[in-house]
Amino acid sequence: MRRLPNKGIFAICSHKPCLNGKIRAVDHFPIVNRLFPRVRKLTSLARLSDRIEDLPCVGALRGKLLRKLGIRRAADLLFFFPRSYEEVAQVQRSSEFVENTRVSFVATVVEIAERVTQSGKHMLGVHTIADGASVRLIWYNQPFRKNDLRTGQRLLATGVLRSTVLNWEIAQPSIVPLTGTELPKGQEPQPIYPLTEGLKQSTMRHMIRDSLADLIPLVEEALPRDLRQQYELPDIGSALRDIHFPPDMDAAMRAVRRFKIQELLVLQLAIAMQRRERERTSIAPACEPTGKIHSRILNRLQFQLTTDQLRAIDEIGRDMSRKLPMNRLLQGDVGSGKTVVAQYAMLLCVAHGYQAALMAPTEVLARQHAATLQRSLSSSRVRVGLVTGNMPKGARTELQRAIAEGTIDLIVGTQALLSTALTFHSLALVIVDEQHKFGVMQRAHLRTDQSQPHYLVLSATPIPRTIAMTAFGDLDISTIRTKPAGRAPVHTYVTTKDQLAAWWRFVDEQIAAGRQAYVITPRVADSENSDVASAEGIFAELSSGPFQHRSIGLLHGRMTGEQKEQVLTDFNDAQLDILVATTVVEVGIDVPNATVMTILDADRLGLSQLHQLRGRISRGSHSGFVCAVTDAVTTPVIAGQTSRNLADPTRSVELNERLRAFESSDDGFELAEMDLRLRGPGDLLGTSQSGLPTLRIANLVDDGPLVELARQMAAVLLQADPELSNPELSRLVQQTLRRYGKSMQLSDVG
Ligand code: ADP
Ligand code: MG
Repeated sequence: MRRLPNKGIFAICSHKPCLNGKIRAVDHFPIVNRLFPRVRKLTSLARLSDRIEDLPCVGALRGKLLRKLGIRRAADLLFFFPRSYEEVAQVQRSSEFVENTRVSFVATVVEIAERVTQSGKHMLGVHTIADGASVRLIWYNQPFRKNDLRTGQRLLATGVLRSTVLNWEIAQPSIVPLTGTELPKGQEPQPIYPLTEGLKQSTMRHMIRDSLADLIPLVEEALPRDLRQQYELPDIGSALRDIHFPPDMDAAMRAVRRFKIQELLVLQLAIAMQRRERERTSIAPACEPTGKIHSRILNRLQFQLTTDQLRAIDEIGRDMSRKLPMNRLLQGDVGSGKTVVAQYAMLLCVAHGYQAALMAPTEVLARQHAATLQRSLSSSRVRVGLVTGNMPKGARTELQRAIAEGTIDLIVGTQALLSTALTFHSLALVIVDEQHKFGVMQRAHLRTDQSQPHYLVLSATPIPRTIAMTAFGDLDISTIRTKPAGRAPVHTYVTTKDQLAAWWRFVDEQIAAGRQAYVITPRVADSENSDVASAEGIFAELSSGPFQHRSIGLLHGRMTGEQKEQVLTDFNDAQLDILVATTVVEVGIDVPNATVMTILDADRLGLSQLHQLRGRISRGSHSGFVCAVTDAVTTPVIAGQTSRNLADPTRSVELNERLRAFESSDDGFELAEMDLRLRGPGDLLGTSQSGLPTLRIANLVDDGPLVELARQMAAVLLQADPELSNPELSRLVQQTLRRYGKSMQLSDVG
């Protein structure tokens, strides 16, 4: 495949008056195609926008397979990067052979034999000698291999060694025939692409190798030369070549680094542009915590604040003094005392005559927040309203009017707050509690007519800085690290169901001592085809069995708001000894006298979830006890040793790590870090709708340093050229707008 010299193309097109020499050759191709449909076929002039089937090295059949991988255009093929590389090991001498390792060595063929195995497979066995050692190479169902082999031939073989009684053996090795007496050259790393059924690795490599030369010259450089020099990034041509077919691993890694940085830079530019746009276009109500206001609010709060709480309050106060909308994440482990900080921010608004809204992920939690606020404000004129999804119509209309007229100051609610029917009189602050529970990471858009409210997000799942910045736009972060003093420790146990009777006796002792207990189940109701514990089932079982003499309550998501409220009030007032509940209690519930928790079928829950649940019983001055019960793990899995009685070893290893981590650490930051590694950021932040951009090559978890680097680069670029009007940046800006323009609502810059 050769590209026609440009001259040739112009010759073909020259009779069209509209074409002049200034237009680049590629721009002419559509016209060429229309006028001379056969010309392209013959000359194989490629364009990046070509349909993938039209590439000569692809064709209709393979094109279909490539489309399954998301490759639709020629450019997609060029930017379809390997997921790793196959490196040929250093050539080894037989004296260095170690069983079960991958080796490469030079050998001479002495005998070739074929036979059919008992199971009907064709087997090709090739006996070779590698400097004195005897090595048998075996292929199954690949009779054609024989054609490449003859006795006396030298070859370079690579594969994983097994030792048998007689000799070394390698199944399905890869081989390279050697001619004459040459020694094998250092082999280039081979790309390994993601594949789909029916597509072979070698075919993929051929298609990409064949089109590279044609396509690479068509790609325009997006990174300015200065930037590339400063950060030692290869130019786009070399990077594309080296990411697919690198001469060595260093070159491959340099290319990968370039594409990661480029991808992250585009993201960081989008975030920076979004922030500037927000700052340019929005005015927030300034609420300064003057000395008088500050001490008046502190006097209202129930306790002496911790140092970390005071620092968070200081940071928030500073943000809210400005006319720029605050955009801040307050993160702190379960029970670290975030609510009171949120309360401070809300009262700051009220002190300045504005409204504040607090959104919680569950009705149960919203009700609890409203009750707490009401309690601490009972002696003041501040009015609190609760908005939930299932309110009687009359009450709702009444509440809506009060909110619109401004007679209610603090509005607490569930996602029902986002309803468009709700209009605020003078909203200055939106707080989202337990943001990670909402799944969608967007900014909550509450309707206000005038200015933009300040925005505060609370999260108990510490989010690595790089991810927080990306997921929430450009967030500032306040962290509460230490818990309020005087907290008694929580003891954590992981056990199996056959130990339950003994555990229930312990729970009963605790109740006798005046404490209360939670029993958590993964399901609401029993189901025929599963024996996973359900709240209703366990409630019945405990009421008629080990706890007939105790008062037990039931709480789950299918109950009405009033029912839930009643149960929670009863539990709070110690009318109930035991609360059997689903994970609805996971978020935020605060009953300090409840200090014992049993989590049934704990293997069903994630690490962060388990830790959140445990957070419910570390609120007071009595020691807490949590027992995670599971039957999924009966034998500990020791690293590197697979256990026979487990159906799916990978799952059980992961599960073991999770429960063991839960048992061994009570530090939410540490556990979140582990969870992130075990499950990835999408899960950590809720769902695939977490609002995290899908990145093609960079990875927010592992590429933290590159995220920071890209952030610096974006800052430097914007500093030097605030409108990004330098023509050298135009491709980068174009990429940013194309990729994020819509989702981040960026207007056209530059
Ligand atoms: P979370 O950060 O998980 O939302 P909460 O705000 O619910 O935690 O606080 C947990 C418990 O700690 C509550 O019972 C709260 O009243 C109490 N608390 C918060 N701050 C302090 C403090 N400075 N001193 C003592 N107790 C506190
Ligand atoms: Mg909370």
